[in-house]
Amino acid sequence: MGGCVRDLVRGESPGDWDVATSDRPEVVAALFPDSTWENPFGTVTVRASGMAIEVTTYRSEGGYRDSRHPDEVRWGSSLAEDLARRDFTINALAWVADDLAAERGHLVDPYGGEADLRAGILRAVGDPEERFAEDALRLLRGARFATSLDLAIDPPTEAAIRRLAPTAERLSGERVRDEILRLLAMPDPSRGFALLERLGLLAVVLPELAALRGVAQGKVLGGDALDHSLRTVDAVAAPDAVLRLAGLLHDVGKAPTAADGHFIGHESEGAALVEARMRALAFSRADIDRVTHLVRHHLIQYTPEWTDAAVRRFIKRIGPGQPLVDVLILRRADTAASAGPEVGDAAADELERRIAALRPGAVLSVGGLAVDGAALMRELHLDPGPRIGRLLDDLLQAALDDPSVNDREQLLALARVRLAAEQD
Ligand code: ATP
Ligand code: MG
Repeated sequence: MGGCVRDLVRGESPGDWDVATSDRPEVVAALFPDSTWENPFGTVTVRASGMAIEVTTYRSEGGYRDSRHPDEVRWGSSLAEDLARRDFTINALAWVADDLAAERGHLVDPYGGEADLRAGILRAVGDPEERFAEDALRLLRGARFATSLDLAIDPPTEAAIRRLAPTAERLSGERVRDEILRLLAMPDPSRGFALLERLGLLAVVLPELAALRGVAQGKVLGGDALDHSLRTVDAVAAPDAVLRLAGLLHDVGKAPTAADGHFIGHESEGAALVEARMRALAFSRADIDRVTHLVRHHLIQYTPEWTDAAVRRFIKRIGPGQPLVDVLILRRADTAASAGPEVGDAAADELERRIAALRPGAVLSVGGLAVDGAALMRELHLDPGPRIGRLLDDLLQAALDDPSVNDREQLLALARVRLAAEQD
């Protein structure tokens, strides 16, 4: 149903499984003892073979007056009715089992979603303006699917998105935040934000960022402050959506401080703008503190003349541990986005060396750990894969909190504990 059939048609394994049925939630819940049913829309989560399967009763949705959510949910009686309320043709696909035991079934595709997927086209189901007027989140979902699946937006669908873009203003902060985080988690996140700009959505969901268009700055790589911000988010060398958000927003203070020609104080102006925007988007206090701190301190004016005391003051100001790691990653991204990735950042390298020299045992990157990926695989009999990277990140976290654990035996012991916990 929906996204999982789309993933299967594309030859990928779905991230989640959605099942639709004519049975009411209470019937489904009674059939599967290991299921939970919490939300008012009646999706029952069934746990089977280690997977969480979302089972939803056919719906036919009621009126949508506020572009935020349906005023009411009505149970539908047919699959056709259920597919008609989906947003895009590529999501209005269902696989109907004819004979479960023999794994036989057929694809139900009333809107040509399979053909659109193969042709690389994102198209709203039915009348695009109606679909977007029903739920403005679909405007952002459209930008997300076009980016993640590399689809061209069908011209009438794109025209409707542009026309209705201002209605995204009414969306709750949480829903917009989640879409922004999903764009940030993609490879080359700038693609999603550049598309939001083209569709007129960036000025609605991240107006401070959109305001950087046309703010001139003298970077080697050229372009305006928005071009620079988009290059910076791509250059953040960590798959960490919140850190990437700091890269994306680090210069938003440049629009209000552009008048002096030097952007004096753009870090603190920017931190205030980011604080307000992240609050409106219902980010957690911890995420807001992390990003505003980075924006406020992103300009590192390091020179070789810094005394050891100056380096110590810097460590104290930024905070040892994760903030120091973050600020150096952000600095390197900013430099790469200003001068080009091949230039490197000798000042950041030197500062990192001096920090390490002042804090013996201090680790600032996975490379500084007393074990590496190869040692983990050998000692713990693990196969290569993303799990190794996650384990190393976990170990770095532990070593940041307490540099004394950065010792081969202690790290291996800790890795064993983490692995055992994963197995549970
Ligand atoms: P993902 O890969 O992020 O899981 P998805 O398409 O599966 O994407 P879900 O949020 O899991 O998205 O929703 C499952 C299905 O429900 C979608 O494929 C779509 O058919 C439908 N759907 C979800 N949200 C909306 C919406 N706002 N408007 C219309 N249909 C929606
Ligand atoms: Mg899904």
